[in-house]
Amino acid sequence: MPTSSHGSREKEFRAGMSDTTHSLHHATRKRFDRVVTKLLAWHPVNKPQYAWRALRRTPYEVLVSEFMLQQTGARQIEKKLPVFLKLFPTAKRLAQAPRSTVIRAWQGLGYNRRAINLQNAAQAIAARRTFPKTLEGLLALPGVGEYTASAVLAFAFNVDVPVVDVNVQRVLSRLWKPMEDAHAKLPVREIAELDRTILPPGTSANLHEALMDLGSTVCTKQKPRCAECPVRGDCPSAKNLHGIRHQPKPKRNIEERFFGHPRRIWRGRILKLISEAEGITAMELDRVLREDYPTILKNVLDTREFQELQKAILVSLHAEGFIAIRNGRITLTHE
Ligand code: SF4
Repeated sequence: MPTSSHGSREKEFRAGMSDTTHSLHHATRKRFDRVVTKLLAWHPVNKPQYAWRALRRTPYEVLVSEFMLQQTGARQIEKKLPVFLKLFPTAKRLAQAPRSTVIRAWQGLGYNRRAINLQNAAQAIAARRTFPKTLEGLLALPGVGEYTASAVLAFAFNVDVPVVDVNVQRVLSRLWKPMEDAHAKLPVREIAELDRTILPPGTSANLHEALMDLGSTVCTKQKPRCAECPVRGDCPSAKNLHGIRHQPKPKRNIEERFFGHPRRIWRGRILKLISEAEGITAMELDRVLREDYPTILKNVLDTREFQELQKAILVSLHAEGFIAIRNGRITLTHE
């Protein structure tokens, strides 16, 4: 396919920038048509092989995988998703399972609150007897936000909706306007409008998967590989980003640390200990934690402060429905 000259492309990009995303300038529209065609041709032969994708045969399976992907990488769910779906093959089976079994099955994925939200969502689906097929219906499920609802609509029903995760946001930002550096990106709302406008009917599942995979393998945040990119001829950011290795922004450490770790790490460890030793007491829990973290905790002279942290975590786990406490013994919630 012929590519426009540098000058005419610049002109087109400037024209594109003055468009609203609702009504693209003719040349911009043609450019995005080319981008979409190239991406849909590139994807089937270049996509990363994720075994879990073959497991997304039903809307429920898509929902489970999207919950897992909310805060866990695509490679990390490779082992967990098949095991989880074997244990809970339908929304009804997940809805009826003891909570403790669901929490145990989720362990290793982190952010355990998702396990409870997912089971609550399964209970809502089981109660209504049909899987919701609209944005409103999906948004009414516990733990389902706008992104997850759109992703389920696209990947389970191939509905033409924008699905903007971090990869789609980065790739479409770079394709829409010249980005000056690797960190630059446009607001999600603007990208969602562009996504809606360029999406050919009936391609939602394929195109969004292609955009996500391009973003995770080629148009990466730190080192975009523009020379290998199937849409470089139509990308206004290539000349700025090609060949540059961008330094990661220094992370702002916003997570407060307690005894060397963020609270969520202590919380995850405590939950795991309770699931391994059902009926453990607070005193035993304190002792095992001290044995597990001797280096960190050997200098903790003020044991009361560490116990206060454990107590606060137990109170929140109890309030959120993870654990039950009876006669001083702590267990996972079974009902
Ligand atoms: S040409 Fe470079 S910046 Fe543009 S989409 Fe491809 S990898 Fe990303």
